[in-house]
Formats: sequence, C-alpha cells, structure tokens
Amino acid sequence: MRECFELRDTDAGGRIGELTVPRADVTVETPALLPVINPNLDTIAPRRLADEFGAEILITNSYIIHGTDDVRKQALADGLHELLDFPGAIMTDSGSFQLSEYGDIDVTTEEILEFQHAIGSDIATPVDIPTPPDVPRQRAEEELETTQERLEIAEDVDTGDMLVSAPVQGSTYPDLREAAGRHADGTDLDVFPVGAVVPLMNDYRYDDMVDAVAAAKRGLGADAPVHLFGAGHPMMFALGVAMGCDLFDSAAYALYARDDRYLTVRGTRLLEDLEYLPCSCSVCTSHSPDDLRALPDDEREEELAAHNLHVTFAEIRRIKQAIRAGNLLELVEQRARSHPTMLDGYRALLDHADQLERSDPVSKGAFFHVSSESARRSEVVRHHQRLERLSVPDSLFLTEGQPARGDEFDDSWRVEPPFGPFPRALSRSYPLTAEVPERTDRAALSAAADGVARLAETNPDADLALGHRGWPADVLERVPESVELIDFTED
Ligand SMILES: [Zn+2]
Repeated sequence: MRECFELRDTDAGGRIGELTVPRADVTVETPALLPVINPNLDTIAPRRLADEFGAEILITNSYIIHGTDDVRKQALADGLHELLDFPGAIMTDSGSFQLSEYGDIDVTTEEILEFQHAIGSDIATPVDIPTPPDVPRQRAEEELETTQERLEIAEDVDTGDMLVSAPVQGSTYPDLREAAGRHADGTDLDVFPVGAVVPLMNDYRYDDMVDAVAAAKRGLGADAPVHLFGAGHPMMFALGVAMGCDLFDSAAYALYARDDRYLTVRGTRLLEDLEYLPCSCSVCTSHSPDDLRALPDDEREEELAAHNLHVTFAEIRRIKQAIRAGNLLELVEQRARSHPTMLDGYRALLDHADQLERSDPVSKGAFFHVSSESARRSEVVRHHQRLERLSVPDSLFLTEGQPARGDEFDDSWRVEPPFGPFPRALSRSYPLTAEVPERTDRAALSAAADGVARLAETNPDADLALGHRGWPADVLERVPESVELIDFTED
C-alpha cells in the first residue's frame, strides 16, 4: 500500500481518499481541486482560497517562480507557504508545458527537484515530456523513454518528506499509456498526473481523453493517487472522477474570469449573454448580470473568478456526496447531457465498464435506469458475468411477467431489462432492485436479451424458454434459437 494515499469509499471507478502530505503536515481529502496560483498575479488571494472556499491544496508553477527574480529570492528566503500565505499543501508544477513550448532548457532533473525543495514545495514535479496527441508512434515512444529516465533519476534524488509526482505520458497510444502507468507505479514516487490531455480537452475530445486515462489506470495500481493534469472545467469533473482521477487543477476559474466567462456545470457562458445568474453563490445572489457588467475590469474579474471557484468547489462536493450515496454514474449521466462531446466521453467510459466493475461496490442504494447508456453500466456487465456462475435447472422459464407457464418447468426466473434473467430469490438484492422506466428503451431490452443469451450459452443442455412482452424482432435475434420464445402480447 502506498503510504501517502488511503481509499475511503468507491463508486464505479471513483473514490474518496485521503492524501497525506507530510511536508505540509496536512491530509487532503480527494477528489480535490487544486486552484492554480500565478505568484505574479493572484486573482483570488491564496488565504481567501483556504478560508472562504475551503481549498486544502493549491498548485503553482516553479518555473515562473524561478524566472522572476524578486519572487525567487523571497521564495528561497521565506518559503512558498509564507510567500503565498497559504496554510494547506502546495504542489509545484515544473512547467513542462512552458519548457516544451519554448525549447529545452539546460537544467537537470536533480536541479529542478532541488529547487522545488528549496522553495518549500510539498509535492514537486520533475520535468517530463508532455507528448501531444496524435504524434507518430516513434516520437511518442522516444519521448516516453526520456520521461521514464527522468522519473528514475527523480526516484534517487533526496527530497526529504516532499512528495514527488510521476507524470504518465504516451500520447494517444493506449498501450504506451498503460506501460507508462505501470512503469510510474513501479517507482517509489507518490502522485501520478496523467499528462498532456489538455489538447484533447481543448478540442472537446472527451472520448479520447477517457481512453488515455483508462489506459493509464490499467497500468497504475488502485492505491495510486491520480491527477488529471490541466482539467479545470467543472463540467467534466464527474466523468474524470468516475474514471478514477483524484486530483484536478483549475486555472480555468481565473483565466475564464479574465475573458468575462462564467462557468457552470453545464458549460461556459459569456457574461454578456446572461440575463439571469443561474447560481446561488454569494457573488450571484448579491449581483445582477448588469451589476457585474458595470464593475471596473479588475473587480469584475475578481467577482467572476470567485463565482467560478464556488461552482467548481460545489461540484467537487456534489461528486463526493454522489460517491457516498453510490450514484456517481447518475451524476455523470446528467453532466453527459450538457454537450454532445461529453456524451461521447460517457459512452467511452462505458466501453471500459469491465474495468470500472473491479472497483464498483457490489451493493449500493438503487440503480436508476435513466438513459440508454445505463444499459451499459458496470452493474449490468457484472450481472451478465454472474449469470455464468449461477446453477440452472434442467428446464427453466424466463419471464418478464408472472410465471404463466411456471408449472411446466423446473423453475421460473424473472427477466428485468437491462439486466436480463435472475432467480427470484435475488429480486431484492442490488442492482436488481433497479428503478426502470415503464417505457423501456431498446438498449435495455437488448442488454436483457444479451443476458438471456449468456445464460443459454453457458447452459447448452438446459431447456430454456423466454416469456416477453412484445420485444422487437431485432432484440429477439440476440437470443439463441435454442431458447423457446413466448410473446405474452399475442394472446
Ligand atoms: Zn455564482
């Protein structure tokens, strides 16, 4: 078990955990948001982040500190906590993005980490190579090799009780991401940012982002705290958490405020387009859109940044509550309705339902079937796997309704979309207590038919019949011919 990270609760791939940051002597509850602080221009003072917003951790850029003479001198003399006036944990980014954009800089991994240690960082970051999406494979491999060499060097640097992160790269090659995750997990480094996914998010490629993270997660152990690096929009936090990400950093709250952009969990709005403020934070209850528009630029920026942060932290709390309640995927479904590309992201997440199934609790409150995507959730996958292990009598009637012909068979099981068949004794166990709409959708029927098929395939000698209420022909085609079909609606 990784000493700095402990899991408290899980739902789908999401988890509530505790990240112990010894150098700051604080424990951060995850999923956590790290507001990004630019030491040269703090839109919201770090002390206010802690006191008003409850921020337990923030992130700042060691490259900017290094490059600004007076800030560097003060950071080296007094330490980051004093410089920023922040009581929580402080993570420093190495500035890989700046380095990759402005060309190589002649510093070693040792020097980079030693500088972050000298300024009092609690979690430091080596300089990795953030390989962008879609590059030729050879480049992705070579750059990953360089990143891995640097992580191995970082492992040997004496950094005291400062935690050190191990970025996971590999561009858009899932096998490289997985190998990178496995390599990083094998080091004794502490926190695992999935790197270079910002270009994917900027292009609304949430499905590709999900595939990259899912691959990284396959390589990383369950006890590895994972940072979705550069993901600061609250609209996608639930999706990120459901994939198994624990840390998010947001520069968006400040950057968007600078451009008069107003964050919501359903997307970004321009202040000029708003007639109402759909939020109950202190900014939005004490201003009208006209009030905000009338403020001087710097005041408006600060008010918008405060609103953006309120929305962002509220979403993190909502996600934690959803994990506790066991309905995280229902929150993801809601957020997936915000934008078609978010729906792509959710559908990609469900492509990895068997991976999520491993961390998903066996029992929760209630399964709500609220969209056709619900039929692909890990609970359905798990039920279908379980069907292979249930013992089946010689003859079995599977029925959506009452066991109308139960007497002719050894036993009769219920059939409920989207799960399919199960013994009546399991009717009151999760997830078969599901709330399902009366007007069932085709995806749920198809999933139920797949369950019937799974049962028939694993019990080729059993005599099976399916009583259904007018299932469409293309759904029934999923059921093997050996299963007798009885349509109750034909009587
Ligand atoms: Zn607000």
